[in-house]
Amino acid sequence: MIAQPKASHFIDGQYVEDSSGAAIDVIFPATGELIARVHEATPAIIERALASAARAQKEWARVKPVERGRILRRAADMIRERNQSLSELETLDTGKPIQETTVADATSGADALEYFAGLAPTVTGETMPLGRDFVYTIREPLGVCVGIGAWNYPTQIACWKGAPALAFGNAMIFKPSETTPLCALKIAEILHEAGLPAGLYNVVQGRGTVGAALVTDPRVAKVSLTGSVPTGRKVYAMAATGIRNVTMELGGKSPLIIFDDAHIENAVGGALMANFYSAGQVCSNGTRVFVQKGIKEKFLQRLKARTEAIRLGDPRDPDTQMGPVVNAAQMEKVLSYIEIGKKEGARLITGGQRAGTNAGCFIAPTVFADVTDDMTIAREEIFGPVMAVLDFETEEEAVARANATEFGLSAGVFTGDLARGHRVVANLEAGSCWINAYNLTPVETPFGGSKQSGVGRENSKAAIEHYTQIKSVYVNLGDVDAPY
Ligand code: NAD
Repeated sequence: MIAQPKASHFIDGQYVEDSSGAAIDVIFPATGELIARVHEATPAIIERALASAARAQKEWARVKPVERGRILRRAADMIRERNQSLSELETLDTGKPIQETTVADATSGADALEYFAGLAPTVTGETMPLGRDFVYTIREPLGVCVGIGAWNYPTQIACWKGAPALAFGNAMIFKPSETTPLCALKIAEILHEAGLPAGLYNVVQGRGTVGAALVTDPRVAKVSLTGSVPTGRKVYAMAATGIRNVTMELGGKSPLIIFDDAHIENAVGGALMANFYSAGQVCSNGTRVFVQKGIKEKFLQRLKARTEAIRLGDPRDPDTQMGPVVNAAQMEKVLSYIEIGKKEGARLITGGQRAGTNAGCFIAPTVFADVTDDMTIAREEIFGPVMAVLDFETEEEAVARANATEFGLSAGVFTGDLARGHRVVANLEAGSCWINAYNLTPVETPFGGSKQSGVGRENSKAAIEHYTQIKSVYVNLGDVDAPY
């Protein structure tokens, strides 16, 4: 097994094994090869993770922010130095091409650690003068935070949750997706090598039941989930019973609106990036591509040509531009949506079937045109390389149809008229929007969804709100005025 970790879990500063937990096989989706086996956390493992995090957090909260930041900054540097090997592991874990993982995964995790390292010492309270008296506020950590990850960006998610939690004085217990359990262990290892005290970043493996055990433990102050809307509903409800803080980064069915006056090649490039990066397994993808009627056929012609030129293949090959989807179950799900698209009358422009002949989970990048709002492929999140192109006539119509969904994660607009770009974005119900771009998510930018796509924001200064709480202190400088 070429990617077997030292042990399944990382707790209290070290690798820990308990093979009595149910086995989780890790499969490289390009070949079907078994690359590692980890074990689900048992109640004893979960207890060790919680107890060590609770203990370590109390000490960590007393460490000066600049010192906390220094450790995170060191970890960021180490991640960048080890980018190649971390990217190779991410490629094995997820099947994403090495071309992508070397620029988008560990590196974006390092960015988060570096950013929050710098932000940590800037977090301060306020003073409110009240005549003779005054009030001051302290921004305090929440305590023990639980992070639960999806399988599409395992390294990035481990860092996007861990970096702000640690920077502001919390501990993090991270449960990776059972589909991609390997990369978070490396992040834990690096953080501790960089000087993070034991217990502050624990990784435990497991399926939903392990997640649920963490979410419902009374020692946990906050839960941050990246996952689907149905999982979000369950986790949010469980967190609510303990009145815990939550961040919910959930799914989407985001619109990308392309007007007649857009630069065609840029718009096609944007639509490709919005649908085929990571084989379409990106939560913020613009999977409903609304194209204004005047440029429809020209747009489709260029889209078809550029889609058919995408190099599918072994994700370890640096020339490969698209790898497999994450596993056989996901492949079957995506293929079934493709069949539904055909059956419901969408016009297949290219793709539309499995690709390759081996055991790999490859799907040809697929484009449907003449998609209507009521079709299943225009309503449900597919999470694979399937683009739906819809046409529209007026700006008003495009905005109304773009908003007609329970999701609200992201949205994009391509237009040569910047005034229109701003106007349209102002009317779109989505947390992250792009004008003449798509899917760029630098750490300086708040990221998250509105409507059912989520609660809270990751990254940027907005994360301070989600990993700290305010204590207010009233200071009386005079006598106590009691009527009794
Ligand atoms: P998922 O919802 O199946 O699982 C997400 C995580 O939740 C996994 O770690 C899983 O083990 C855990 N989980 C499942 N049931 C649970 C329970 N009852 N209690 C606690 N934890 C539980 O999602 P997935 O298939 O891994 O990922 C794909 C989904 O994630 C898509 O919907 C995608 O849009 C979404 N996603 C969102 C973002 C974002 O930032 N908004 C980013 C990436 C992925």
